[in-house]
Amino acid sequence: MKKIEHIGIAVKDIDASNALFAMLFDKPHYKIEAVESEGVKTSFFKAGPNKIELLQATNEDSPIAKFIEKKGEGIHHIAFAVDDIHAEIERLKSNGFKMIHEVPKKGADNKIIAFLHPKSTNGVLVELCQDIED
Ligand code: ZN
Repeated sequence: MKKIEHIGIAVKDIDASNALFAMLFDKPHYKIEAVESEGVKTSFFKAGPNKIELLQATNEDSPIAKFIEKKGEGIHHIAFAVDDIHAEIERLKSNGFKMIHEVPKKGADNKIIAFLHPKSTNGVLVELCQDIED
């Protein structure tokens, strides 16, 4: 894994949180994107070299809706950049990690992604992401 690519934060009201985080970082979000397959609407901020993703559920079955119901708003996941997501999934599986996605899928912000099961990572939801070459 190369570096933390972004930190994901679960929010109830992305419009209100966009305004809040714009004040916090002193600049607005640079992108809003819906990921239908995950039932989420996302927005992205840059704070220096770091990236923050806000996630709001778009339906009741969304993993974000379930997360907020259980734990409330807050840090949802940490995403790590990888060069070869398929090789990384194989490596992690062979070391006993449990994947939520054994086959990577299309995520927000032009990435293919896969989540590890938080049960195998001390309760931290870890996302792997690889840039889609265009
Ligand atoms: Zn993410």
